Amino acid sequence: MAKSLYESLGVSKNATQDEIKKAYRKLVREVHPDTNPGNEERFKEVQGAYDVLSDAAKRKQYDTMGSANGRARAGGGGFSPGTTYDFADFDLGDIFGGLFNRGGGGGRQQQQQRGQRGNDVEVDVHIPFEDALKGAQVTIPVELELACHTCHGTGAAPGTAPITCPVCNGSGVVATSQGLFALQEPCPRCHGRGSIVETPCPTCHGSGRERRTKRYTVKIPAGVKDGTRIKLKGKGEAGYGGAPAGDLYVVTRVEPSKIYERRGDDLVVTVPVPYTTAALGGKVEAPTPDGTVQLKIPSGTEDGKLLRIKGRGVPHLNGEGRGDVLARIKIQVPKKVNKKQREALEALQEAGA
Ligand SMILES: [Zn+2]
Ligand SMILES: [Zn+2]
Repeated sequence: MAKSLYESLGVSKNATQDEIKKAYRKLVREVHPDTNPGNEERFKEVQGAYDVLSDAAKRKQYDTMGSANGRARAGGGGFSPGTTYDFADFDLGDIFGGLFNRGGGGGRQQQQQRGQRGNDVEVDVHIPFEDALKGAQVTIPVELELACHTCHGTGAAPGTAPITCPVCNGSGVVATSQGLFALQEPCPRCHGRGSIVETPCPTCHGSGRERRTKRYTVKIPAGVKDGTRIKLKGKGEAGYGGAPAGDLYVVTRVEPSKIYERRGDDLVVTVPVPYTTAALGGKVEAPTPDGTVQLKIPSGTEDGKLLRIKGRGVPHLNGEGRGDVLARIKIQVPKKVNKKQREALEALQEAGA
């Protein structure tokens, strides 16, 4: 049999604050684990009881709850039998505050309990590589659970209206006393909605919801990657009982490019360079998303070297500036040489090049 908080301190229900304090000080000396090892449970019990009873407001709330024994029922509320709470782990103010707000009707907390926010929805959108660089506007169909168009989400047949739930009086929750801790549960009659439908809507059979395909036009910003998530707030599924809708996440699936390999916001592109240009230096043409540029090849450029073309890469998402294009040099060696070239190459070879 669990004890009340008063019993834990060995005082009467009418004890004054002074008596409570005296009883606590005496008990703490007796049961403090530092002086009396093995008394941890009892110490916590005393400590917890004092935390509540020494605070006038908490004590009043505890008294008001009128529970028979004042402590959690053994095995109830998710606590194992015989366990004494360590009150230090709980913010009693929150527990009581939440409970009493709800009784008063209205208030943010009640609103959250009552209506359940709509689900978030994720859809993929496939876009060409070029659109990822420039940005695009796409229209995508999204299948969603939305408010029923016949009853506008109330679930009640046209000409009728939902009535306030008689079990929870519209709060959507019922309290079951677990001693000191009152548990809030969704109302079993209205399932937390706070209202019930007597004559269900013929379209949605009272659920207030139906699946529909909506078409959204989505602006894809320049610079998106494969797998970038774009959030459209409130465009997900409808909330329940007047709660806000969920969000829609559009995930960009970017097709690979035939010429560029993306590295973050840089674009790597292979640029063929004749071996003579690589040896002597010179200029070649290199592709960029904005068109071809003249790329200066320093003399003695090796195969595979990356030459940076600044600011011609992918626009930084949600920011200024762009990445670069990295020209990967691929030295071209002729498969065949004519007579004149052969003579020149042989002369080079003899020179020890
Ligand atoms: Zn309906
Ligand atoms: Zn109810």
